[in-house]
Formats: sequence, structure tokens, C-alpha cells
Amino acid sequence: MTRVLLLLPTTTYRASDFLEAARRLDVDVTVASEEPNALASVHPDRLLTIDFRDPEACVRRVREFVRTHPIDAVVGVDDDTVVAAAAICDALGLPANSPESASAARNKAALRRALEEAGVPGPRSTLFRLDDDPAEAARRVDYPCVLKPTFLSGSRGVIRADDPESFLAAWRRIEAILRRPEVAAKGGAAANEILVEQYVAGVEVAVEGLLTDGNLDVLAVFDKPDPLEGPFFEETIYVTPSRLREETLAAVRSTTERACRALGLVHGPIHAELRVNQIGLSVIEVAARSIGGLCSRALSFGAGISLEELILRHALGREEGRSPRDPRAAGVMMIPIPRAGRLEKVSGLEEARAVPDVQDVVVSAHAGQRLVPLPEGSRYLGFIFSRAETADRAEAALREALAALTFRIAD
Ligand code: ADP
Repeated sequence: MTRVLLLLPTTTYRASDFLEAARRLDVDVTVASEEPNALASVHPDRLLTIDFRDPEACVRRVREFVRTHPIDAVVGVDDDTVVAAAAICDALGLPANSPESASAARNKAALRRALEEAGVPGPRSTLFRLDDDPAEAARRVDYPCVLKPTFLSGSRGVIRADDPESFLAAWRRIEAILRRPEVAAKGGAAANEILVEQYVAGVEVAVEGLLTDGNLDVLAVFDKPDPLEGPFFEETIYVTPSRLREETLAAVRSTTERACRALGLVHGPIHAELRVNQIGLSVIEVAARSIGGLCSRALSFGAGISLEELILRHALGREEGRSPRDPRAAGVMMIPIPRAGRLEKVSGLEEARAVPDVQDVVVSAHAGQRLVPLPEGSRYLGFIFSRAETADRAEAALREALAALTFRIAD
């Protein structure tokens, strides 16, 4: 029987959607995770423990495993697994991005270098180390700028600075995040780096795509209608189809493809963020993975095929004519965290779910969970999904549903 190896970090939001997709495709699944699972000895063919930070060790472990359980496809879920997934595919001779290209897309400084060398438009940047003198760094950069760690995601530690004073405050705040033991362990050498980019004004779009032999199939372009001007960049609403002009969207597609080529990405899902202003386009980021959190639930293809199923089919080479996206507009809101504290109670769920065009409201944080806003936070409060005739209506439904929700948060 066909077997898929899913690399699922314990912190992922995507486990159930990928497992459901595998069930629908009727394939065997082995889940690799970085922490041992109590059931591993009962299901040795189903559960593997591997350290995603050590791709060579992952390859050794998987080589051993495939002697008794051949694997037909490997899919890495979320940023933490993409380099390990590429290394495993490389070792098993499965089509995938090279480990070098996966690493380049994984590190924001390497990404900037590759894009700059290829002449792909993006912000100018300077890489600093934590042991550099921040006061000297603050004098060297132009304002406004954005400081960021090179390996975190979900806008964690991404801070805008408009002058040397706010630069120094942002530096200290990022340094504190990077020095947390779990962050330092995850980042390795990259946990000593702070990337400073020129701030790019403009509207932002997100591109969801699937690469095959270097050709990019754009699955969706999302508008992000809430202003993302900093100092922190909390993502809220994504709506597709984008309401930008077709000419601009064509440029978004071709620039994203150029960015993938510059990074050497050729196979599998990508998620990119671009900014658009009077001067043109700027690539903010390209990741060799699909959209994060539960946001993929906003997308549906053909007769109810999920993005996860599309990704698994693609990895298995089972693609008899890909189905187009559901033609209705769709939206997702990552529910903003109102303030730091312990989540006690959520009310208004039924009212929010009853808003016309709202498909679902999922509160992913549990009662008692400590909510940490950006720039330090890394967990979502929840998600609202909508589908409507137009993008404007899909967006309005999300806002109306949010207004129906109340979050009781204790200090
Ligand atoms: P992450 O991978 O953590 O999401 P990004 O580099 O994509 O980090 O930054 C997160 C968000 O911060 C972006 O989506 C964008 O809104 C904002 N941002 C990051 N860099 C810049 C920049 N140079 N200019 C303007 N906004 C930026």
C-alpha cells in the first residue's frame, strides 16, 4: 500500500487536516515528530521520533525505517520541517526541493541574499549579530526599518523602528526572545542574528502556490485588507480572490515565480508575502510550505478537496487534472489577541457562527491558556472562516463575526 511520511512538529495546527487528507486518499501514514509518542512502541510503523533540527540524523532514521516500510512521499508541515523533508527526499530519490534551497528559504538573511543576487525586487537589508553594538547598528541603518529574527515565523519578533530610539528598544526585545532557551535551541547559530530591512510601505498580499519542476501554479492570492504598518505585524484577515487589478496580479504571480527560481525552489507548496506600492512590488518572504495555522480551511478545490489533499496528491504524483479553486470568494480571520493574559471564557460563538456567509469559528486557544500577543507570541487565539459571492462580503462577514465574540481574559 502507498505510504506517506508526514513530518508534523508537535506544535503544528495542521495535523488533523493532513491526517484527514491522507484518510481520504486511502494511504498509509507514518507521522514523524520531534517528541516521542507514548504509542510509538505499539505502532512502530506509524510513529517515528526524529529531531527536525538535525537533517542528517533524520535521513539516517528514515533510511533505516524504509528498509521495512517503503515510503512513496514525504511532506513536511510548517517551517520547522522543510529542511529535514528536503534532505529525506534527496536521500530517497523523491522529487523535492534541494536541501540547499529549502535552507535558503528557511533563513530570512539567506533568502534576502538569494533574491538580491537574482535582482528580485525586495527591501535592502543588513544582517547584524547580537554581539554587534546596537547603538552603532542604529546609526548605520536608514529609517523606517524592520528588525526581525531570521528563522521564526508568524511575525514573531518582527518590529518596525522609525528612529534610533525605537531601533534600540526593538533590538532589546528581539534579543530577549532569541535568548529564550527553546528559541535559542531551535535557531542554533541563527539565534544570534537580527536582520534589519528597509520598511516597505504599501498593501500586502499572500500567495499560495504549488511548484512542479520549477513551474508555479498559483492556487490563490489573498488580500490582507487590515493595515500592516507596525510596530508589530499581527496578521488578521486574508481574503481571496484578491481585489487588485489583473495587471498587478500578473506581476505578483511572475515575481513570486522569479523569487522561487532565485531560491532554487522547484517542487511542492510555497507561501509568499509581497507588498505592492506606487513603485512596484517587493517580495517580503517566500516559504517552502503551505499557509500556516488553520488558514488553509479557507481554500477548497473542485468537489471539496482540501489544500492538504492537493499537497499530498502532488507529492504522490497523483494529479489527474487539478481541480480549480471553489469559485466563491473566501476569507479567514486570525482572531486578534486583545491583550496578554489567561483566557477564561469565550462568548458569542453561536452568534458569530450564525452571521451570514460565516462557515465556521474555531477557538484554538483553550480555557486557561496564557495568551501572548506579538511580538513575543507564537500561538493563535482562533480562526473565523467565510465564503461569499464577493470578496467584500467575505471580508464583511469576518468582521461581523468578530464583533459578536467576547473574550474574557484574566491577568
Ligand atoms: P514571518 O515569517 O515571521 O511572518 P516576515 O518577514 O514575513 O516574518 O514578516 C512578517 C510581516 O511583517 C510581513 O507579512 C509584513 O507585514 C511585515 N514586514 C516584514 N518585513 C517587512 C518590511 N521589510 N517592510 C514592511 N513590512 C514588513
